[in-house]
Amino acid sequence: MVQKLALIGLGLIGSSIAHAAKRGGLVKNIVGYDASDDVRARARTIGFAHRIADDLASSVADADLVILCTPVGAYKEVAQAIAPLLKAGAILSDVGSVKGAVVRDVGPFVPAGVNFSPAHPIAGTEYSGPEAGFASLFDGRWVIITPPEGADGKAVDVLREFWQGLGASVDVMNARHHDLVLAMTSHLPHLIAYNIVGTARDLEDVRQGEVIKYSASGFRDFTRIAASDPTMWRDIFLNNKDAVLEVLGRFNEDLAVLQRAVRNGDGQALFNFFTRTRAIRRAIIDQGQDTAAPNFGRNKS
Ligand code: NAP
Repeated sequence: MVQKLALIGLGLIGSSIAHAAKRGGLVKNIVGYDASDDVRARARTIGFAHRIADDLASSVADADLVILCTPVGAYKEVAQAIAPLLKAGAILSDVGSVKGAVVRDVGPFVPAGVNFSPAHPIAGTEYSGPEAGFASLFDGRWVIITPPEGADGKAVDVLREFWQGLGASVDVMNARHHDLVLAMTSHLPHLIAYNIVGTARDLEDVRQGEVIKYSASGFRDFTRIAASDPTMWRDIFLNNKDAVLEVLGRFNEDLAVLQRAVRNGDGQALFNFFTRTRAIRRAIIDQGQDTAAPNFGRNKS
């Protein structure tokens, strides 16, 4: 059991960690802090933490585990502010969707005696804020821990057990590999969704009413992804530039192949391509990462 957990940033992910930690009885004392007065007031009303602190210092004082849950762009400033306040032996972690940039921005501030192990839960919704959190968000989902070189093995084990207690399965890999994998599975799909929805909005010969009216034919699924938080996603693309550009280059090559098949009326090439991609969908369902039903993982409980 963790004696004191400090959560910095009380939006979807921070509040969900608190809900899930309470559900699992994993922490004696959960203290939350958010830069926004309004968010702190709302978090107090919801009551997912034992205490909501009005300042960073008292939130992290004596904490055994500190988890940064703000947008990645705020990490450097927060790390600089809390570094001198962390107790020896504490574990400092995060939930950011990119990992190389976290090692770059937070790593230099971590004092000797504090165990730094970044992590990323592969779970989320398109909703933000303290009301968006729920206890089952991490159930059956993966969390990737990316310990920097020389990280303390025991601290990584504590973090692993903590996330397992929240309902997740845990994998460990290096930050660079994480960023490449996530560029493919998460960042590129979001970029494509933002672009498709942006194109539809700007297309002048299709009336907007028709785009919405006939959205069930595929467009609707992209709009859910493209409704994701603009601050969070801006920070992801600013902080995972190389890996995103690498997979985007590969994506453009494959798109050109499809474009050629459509132009040439090459039905066999299209059929073969679509058959291969269908197998990926089946594998995701077989591994319990989705169901055939809509809204999997987005039902609050
Ligand atoms: P969110 O709902 O927008 O919550 C973030 C909270 O952090 C907001 O209340 C924000 O306040 C606050 N904040 C911003 N700067 C701060 C600072 N300097 N000090 C303290 N609090 C600060 O975002 P989220 O979806 O929980 O995402 C949080 C982190 O989780 C991000 O790093 C993201 O990459 C990662 N993540 C998100 C998902 C997802 O699907 N959402 C999944 C996995 C990982 P204001 O709103 O007033 O700025």
